[in-house]
Amino acid sequence: MVRGMNALTSDLLIIGAGPTGLAAGCDALRHGLSVRLVERRATRALESKALVVHARTMEVFEVMGCAAAVEAQGQRFRALNVRPTQAAAPVRIDLLARNWGDTRYPFWLSVPQFEVERALEARFVALGGRVEWSTSLEGLTQTPEGVEATLEVGGVEHVHRARWVLGCDGGRSATRSAVGLELPREGLGVTFALTDVWTNGALVADEGQVVLTPEGVLLIVPMPTPGLRRLIAQVPADFDAADLGAWSRLVESRAGLDLGMQRLGWNSRFDLTGGVATRFRHGRVFLLGDAAHVHSPVGGQGLNTGVQDAHNLVWKLALASRDGLDDAAREALLDTYEAERRPIAEEMVRMTTLATRVLTLKNPVARFARGVAARALLRAPLFQNQLSRRVGMLDLQSDGHGRLENPELPGGRRLHDVLDPLRPTLLSWKGREVLVRPDRVVARPGLFPASFASKVTVA
Ligand SMILES: Cc1cc2nc3c(=O)[nH]c(=O)nc-3n(C[C@H](O)[C@H](O)[C@H](O)COP(=O)(O)OP(=O)(O)OC[C@H]3O[C@@H](n4cnc5c(N)ncnc54)[C@H](O)[C@@H]3O)c2cc1C
Repeated sequence: MVRGMNALTSDLLIIGAGPTGLAAGCDALRHGLSVRLVERRATRALESKALVVHARTMEVFEVMGCAAAVEAQGQRFRALNVRPTQAAAPVRIDLLARNWGDTRYPFWLSVPQFEVERALEARFVALGGRVEWSTSLEGLTQTPEGVEATLEVGGVEHVHRARWVLGCDGGRSATRSAVGLELPREGLGVTFALTDVWTNGALVADEGQVVLTPEGVLLIVPMPTPGLRRLIAQVPADFDAADLGAWSRLVESRAGLDLGMQRLGWNSRFDLTGGVATRFRHGRVFLLGDAAHVHSPVGGQGLNTGVQDAHNLVWKLALASRDGLDDAAREALLDTYEAERRPIAEEMVRMTTLATRVLTLKNPVARFARGVAARALLRAPLFQNQLSRRVGMLDLQSDGHGRLENPELPGGRRLHDVLDPLRPTLLSWKGREVLVRPDRVVARPGLFPASFASKVTVA
């Protein structure tokens, strides 16, 4: 290995150009931080992977400036049809007709992960950034002033100095290993397979199907490309996810449907695990996205949580770069990243594990009880509304402080529209004053000096 010195320095070094790293890059440039974003792969992976972008993430993308580009590549889920048992008629949850409350994005958006990444990269480039492909992190050394990262490009190693390093390098994070952190995983004892499949059957194009059977759960998820669908199923450990005939038989036997499957696209089989990293911060190094937490894909929360991790952290790094914060205040502010995001990651792992266990029950008595409870619950409009908003991540709390509500104001704008997109805002509204952070969360008093905030009064 040839070793060269590289005099480059930057505020941030971001490892990984998945959705988390790209979102962090966009936010960093918006805030005026200098950024290097490196990615081990030579080009973008074109596997569809995460398929759902939720309402809260669309709000974040709006602030970053790429919500319209993401939405243009996606398709709104019209409805979810759930069969609580194989024999039962489906319960139809009309997602677009739900009472979503205070959001401009009242839907679950079906959009393949690589399209989200393309939109984020386009925004990153428009803001002046560049993804450095074929560049991998090999090691890290922390000093009081910053981090020295060893990067490998084409067989040559360089050292890059950054004030902070963001490990957005996925479940097998090299950043995590380099600072000696771990991500203990618990196996759920369940194997899932998934595939994208081209179909010409008569199933409604923009509706999802969930069928609960003694052999396991089957999900059929609409995709924005006409005729293309995602199948996700609990399967035996030796199921061949690349076998079209095996998928046809599985769909026919569990759902009684002939989708008219033509050919398979991307497919995969995996054992489900869940876990959270031992720490999200080590000095000047932070873990975000899958590097910090892994979980069952049920509910489609992974990509969304990574983007929201980035949005939580980057404005703090921007504020920490400004004069006027002493060392103790800066440390306290940066520590809130883990304090706020860890409980959310733990709750996500807990809930997705619980949902997966309920969907994959083996005991016949427990399955019978599940069928009875599901029929009653799923029909209740209140439950349907809560399901939409909760899965849509609109009601997440962090450290006791949640997303600022976002009602419409006279004239068609919403409350979030009047906030400063880069700085905290001291908001006078309805006779009260609240300090709101750049990520639209109500700020804990004392987190940063109120003198840093813009002032906005809404009549
Ligand atoms: C089979 C499968 C199905 C999934 N389905 C869903 C779903 O339906 N819904 C959902 O929400 N989530 C789903 N996920 C999870 C979702 O894809 C992840 O949560 C999401 O990709 C996390 O984004 P990330 O940016 O944190 O990590 P990643 O997308 O993993 O990106 C990490 C990036 O870092 C790069 N990298 C790694 N090491 C280095 C290094 N040393 N140097 C430089 N770069 C490096 C990698 O090449 C990669 O591009 C699925 C995942 C898989 C594998």
